[in-house]
Amino acid sequence: MPVGSQKSMLENVRKIVLFEVKDIDRDFYQRHLKAFLPEKMIDIHTHLWQRRDDASEESNRTVTWPSRVAASNPLADLQETYRLMFPDKKCMPLVFGTLANPDLERKANEYVGDAALANRLPALLFSYPQWPADYLRQRLQEKEFLGIKSYLSYAPSYLPAEEIRIFDFFPPHQLEVIHKLGLIVMLHIPRPGRLKDPVNLAQMIEIEEKYPNIKLIIAHVGRAYCREDVGNAFSVLAGTKKMYFDFSANTNQQVFEQMIQTFGPERILFGSDLPITRMRMRRIEKNGIYVNLVPKGLYGDVSQDKNMGELEGPEAEKLTFFMYEQINAFRQAAANTGLTAADVEKVFYTNAFRLLKSAAPARSFAIEEN
Ligand SMILES: [Zn+2]
Repeated sequence: MPVGSQKSMLENVRKIVLFEVKDIDRDFYQRHLKAFLPEKMIDIHTHLWQRRDDASEESNRTVTWPSRVAASNPLADLQETYRLMFPDKKCMPLVFGTLANPDLERKANEYVGDAALANRLPALLFSYPQWPADYLRQRLQEKEFLGIKSYLSYAPSYLPAEEIRIFDFFPPHQLEVIHKLGLIVMLHIPRPGRLKDPVNLAQMIEIEEKYPNIKLIIAHVGRAYCREDVGNAFSVLAGTKKMYFDFSANTNQQVFEQMIQTFGPERILFGSDLPITRMRMRRIEKNGIYVNLVPKGLYGDVSQDKNMGELEGPEAEKLTFFMYEQINAFRQAAANTGLTAADVEKVFYTNAFRLLKSAAPARSFAIEEN
């Protein structure tokens, strides 16, 4: 067999096995999402990594269920995911790494940076709070990163997880650099109180006021996955003017409605948190915490995970992708709050496009081609 056709056969095998799209998924997309979504989309929140050994050991500071969905997510898999899930749309991701073993972070960040440059995609640098300002600046420039993403796990190890503050993993000397360069900070807020936590709210507002050139994105609507996570956060945040909210990996329609009512469509961004939203599941709220209901056995033994539950038989057969559930919850929230098609296009495309262009005025991105 000629090498070329062998290679394309292998490609096909890889595509077939990435994940299964069932009739229920195609029906769901046709009925609820196809007409709602604009032709061009930007996904502001995605994770790329090549191999499991680049990703960190499970830590007691994080939830464990996401590691069950994908062992790796190279760019080809991310692009294949869009083709399978949004077959008639064009979707461009903002890409960044995932929790990496610090010894391997350079390799992991370079993979993301090189893949992004080669494909004219925007990317963020996964940063460590220990880095001095000059070193951060150098690392940003090496691969033309448009900003930083970090995670509470990189805060000093003597801090108990519940005491970590935003400035423990995005220290002021780094925020100063991002402010001077006018770049993006993708913020996954810490602390068990989530969005309603007063320390989180104070520091989110402090970033907006002290570093006005930072393009601050609050990921996952500040991890308000349940109504109990909101508290008075939206009334406290009503006075903010600039920070953006992505609603990645969140399916809470009521939270989305409050977000839309507080900020309007201009400061909301579609993000998926892929690859996790490839998961086949429906999320419910139970005693103030979220529970992902998945087909029994599909993601291994989840009995020890308080955020996971299982369904069997016809109920399990009805489950579609987390991605579709997320967008459908936003669609219903958009309808209930009176968003127009033009508003929806802002959320799924225009806001992010403007944001990326203002962070990198000289760059042109893949989505600009016809
Ligand atoms: Zn994420």
